[in-house]
Amino acid sequence: MSSFDTPAAGSIASTPQDAAASRPALVPPCDLPAVLPGWVWLVGAGPGDPGLLTLLAAHALMQADVVVYDALVDERILQLAPATAELVYAGKRGGKPSPKQPAITGSLIDFAKAGKRVLRLKGGDPFVFGRGAEEAMALTEAGIPFRVVPGITAGIGGLAYAGIPATAREVNTSITFATGHSADGTVPCTLNWSALAASPVVVFYMAIKHLPIISKNLIAAGRDPMTPAAAIAEATTPRQKVVRAPLQDLHQAIQDAGLQPPAIVVIGDVVELAPSMSPSMVPGADLE
Ligand code: SAH
Repeated sequence: MSSFDTPAAGSIASTPQDAAASRPALVPPCDLPAVLPGWVWLVGAGPGDPGLLTLLAAHALMQADVVVYDALVDERILQLAPATAELVYAGKRGGKPSPKQPAITGSLIDFAKAGKRVLRLKGGDPFVFGRGAEEAMALTEAGIPFRVVPGITAGIGGLAYAGIPATAREVNTSITFATGHSADGTVPCTLNWSALAASPVVVFYMAIKHLPIISKNLIAAGRDPMTPAAAIAEATTPRQKVVRAPLQDLHQAIQDAGLQPPAIVVIGDVVELAPSMSPSMVPGADLE
């Protein structure tokens, strides 16, 4: 059996060892590029479920000398790195202040200059509300070679695991991603509320804290207060929780369910389609 073969239908492994032996290799031999010493790879880890990692991300992790990872990266994904790899945590923990961005980019540059294969692992996609752009610019400025490996962003993967289609032909011909939180911790003043109110589906990242203001602004700009909406917390993990309510009631429903960040909020008629999508991918996922 080559590493591409899967067991024939009906062949059931009798022991866990048999099951492991009959499993195809994690990364098939399809000429994926090597991570070279002195390079930094900015890699998206997806929203949580390790199964949502790309082959390129898994392949890069297995070659890394150093992995600099963020708070929302699942522990099981880090286990793909070699046992000898240095794991450097660069996220927030236990309410302590997070490392400043220049310190993180500085460490990436130092590791690369020391000839390490550096893997910068970020939750979701590195270029979606993840400061990947800032890091890429700093690396360019420092003359460090790098590449970017996209990941499944929470606004796509989280919706799918909650059974909410990002687009449905009869419902929406566009979708908008927005952040509810700016660098200074407030609702971004550059958000165009009338444009967002007119967008058929809006997915907000980092919106739980400021949801009352966000809902108020959308409704004041013309959005129907009864628009179907949902919040998806810890999407794609076994702890995933989904709460659905009309826009005007979503904040209260989140409070009642005790939902905690990280969460995304989706506003639009696609949310109504969730019950017909049978979201049963995540063990223990809870759709209210
Ligand atoms: N680069 C990431 C986003 C980083 S910003 C991406 O592409 O997904 C961090 C925010 O992303 C969180 O506050 C939350 O709004 C969202 N997020 C990330 N992972 C999530 C998850 N597993 N479930 C729900 N929201 C998530």
